[in-house]
Amino acid sequence: MRRHPWVFSGAIERVTGTPEPGETVLVCTAQGTALGLAAFSPASQIRARMWNFDAEQPITAELIAGRIAAAAQRREHVLAGGTNSARLVFSEADGVPGLIADQYGDTVVCQLTTAGAEAWREVIADALAALPGVARVYERSDADVREREALAPNVGVLRGDTPPPNLLAHENGLKFAVDVEGGHKTGFYLDQRDGRAAVAQWAGGRNVLNVFSYTGAFSVIAAKHGAASIMSIDSSGPALATASRNAQLNSVDIGEVLEADAFTALRGLRDRARHFDLILLDPPKLANNAKQVEKATRAYKDLNLLAIKLLAPGGVLMTWSCSGAVTPDLFQKVVAGAALDAARMSSSSVRIIGRLSQPIDHPVPLAFPEAEYLKGLILQAD
Ligand code: SAH
Repeated sequence: MRRHPWVFSGAIERVTGTPEPGETVLVCTAQGTALGLAAFSPASQIRARMWNFDAEQPITAELIAGRIAAAAQRREHVLAGGTNSARLVFSEADGVPGLIADQYGDTVVCQLTTAGAEAWREVIADALAALPGVARVYERSDADVREREALAPNVGVLRGDTPPPNLLAHENGLKFAVDVEGGHKTGFYLDQRDGRAAVAQWAGGRNVLNVFSYTGAFSVIAAKHGAASIMSIDSSGPALATASRNAQLNSVDIGEVLEADAFTALRGLRDRARHFDLILLDPPKLANNAKQVEKATRAYKDLNLLAIKLLAPGGVLMTWSCSGAVTPDLFQKVVAGAALDAARMSSSSVRIIGRLSQPIDHPVPLAFPEAEYLKGLILQAD
């Protein structure tokens, strides 16, 4: 038994009684040995999520609140290190399956994505509100994954008052608008903190192309660190409007901002023989599950092929995949295929000079490798 926290429906011989969604159930082996306690999800393929591997230890409000407090405490060094924002609770990785909680200053934004988390909603809300420095808790339980659990969306204030409209994430002296109500995820890409540091390191003096720029965090950093020029591309008008606001907030000029489909825009730049010294390629999740991997790899290949063609001599490409179903190994193979097809492998070379992943507040338990979803390569062309 490897202590993986998921019990799939196909692995269950029988369910005794009719447990409610989110109810704590005892998980036993076929021989009847107790394995531990889990939250029951009758609608999901992941039929139960383990709370523990010790059936003697009951699942109580105190236990869940304790896990949330401990998780938050493990982030203290992140919050002491030049930022006011961190992921406090990362679901299974912190022993609270189905709970994401992100802190921005005195505001916590949470997502409950499973029946188990939903069943402990009030306990979770109280525990988050009781964390040091937290004035309010806002819920953004509108992720698609709730559908798989037959849960309706739930959005609004959970504890305290409405989050201020001008909520900001501070990071290394920069400020980024956090759109708690309408933004992606909980309002900001906390998981790209290490990516932002890498951009800061590489942007100086370079002509930068930021593809899938969202609210322009990479563009603002590039501007602050002396980029020669910047072009940001995203298909979302509102995200680009926030990018302009972020530029203003930090008193920088982020240059050209293009509202367009990235695939089309990249082809257009290729046809015009444009070249860039630093290209950032951070597409949305292209594969939601194993079935979508093949189609997603074609899209990743297309994007990376186009980006590699746009690299100036000595140019650097930072390319990411946030699809958990696409492994780091597969992603690297896809990018290698793209470089080959871009005819850069023969005439010149593309080398991996660095790797990027999710930051320390998005930990990966050894027993739960599925928690690792974000991977990036830093490539340099001849
Ligand atoms: N790098 C960003 C996050 C990118 S999220 C950051 O660190 O903040 C992915 C972005 O891709 C979203 O802003 C979404 O609007 C955009 N997007 C999705 N599909 C797109 C497409 N086909 N063309 C251009 N942008 C797209």
